[in-house]
Amino acid sequence: MFVLLFGPPGSGKGTQAAALASRLGVPHVATGDIFRKHLREGTDLGKLARSYMDRGQLVPDLVTCDLVASRLGEPDALGGVLFDGFPRSVPQLYWLIGHLGATGRKLAAVVNLKVDDGIILGRITGRRTCTNCGATYHVVSAPPGADGSCTRCGAAVVQRKDDTEAVVRDRLEAYAAQTFPCLDQLRDRTPIHDVDGVGGIDEIKGRIFTALAL
Ligand code: AMP
Repeated sequence: MFVLLFGPPGSGKGTQAAALASRLGVPHVATGDIFRKHLREGTDLGKLARSYMDRGQLVPDLVTCDLVASRLGEPDALGGVLFDGFPRSVPQLYWLIGHLGATGRKLAAVVNLKVDDGIILGRITGRRTCTNCGATYHVVSAPPGADGSCTRCGAAVVQRKDDTEAVVRDRLEAYAAQTFPCLDQLRDRTPIHDVDGVGGIDEIKGRIFTALAL
């Protein structure tokens, strides 16, 4: 089962994706997480991606699709994947439809998490991320450990470079201009489930599971 999770940056996609992927029994493929791993490891891809990520812009489609193609070739991903943050542009969407279609596979469903820009700004600018395991915190609603470290692995928790207000505004603009149009393209071919992304984590998870009849 190949499912897409859409939602602007800061809509809670990452948190919900982990729960949904485990419920569906498929791997969670988050292109942003894969790029950040390359960044931490200082690979050539990481160096290239950094210049775009730091400015809140999309990494070029060819680079991103290559990355996804190699992830989709791994044995655990052959039967299904929950995509989080991919596709993020109409060319990426059509690449994915073609890539799956070449082996008779297709997208089963889309979950579209809806959150207003004002709420997103508060969420993202308060977000802090573990430098080691990627766990996320929020300075007000879910603070890290007393010494500012990760409660999961003990590493330092910091603000991502692209979580500052100026960059978040650019990321929201990129979402509206490049990612949102994907939903229009999908409307006639794949069921789209709009889900209110404001509320408690479990509440939103419940809405997603109900929408997908899980
Ligand atoms: P995320 O963690 O999903 O918000 O992604 C962080 C950043 O990684 C984005 O602002 C982009 O610079 C880059 N990125 C993640 N996924 C994609 C994608 N599908 N296409 C292009 N760039 C991406």
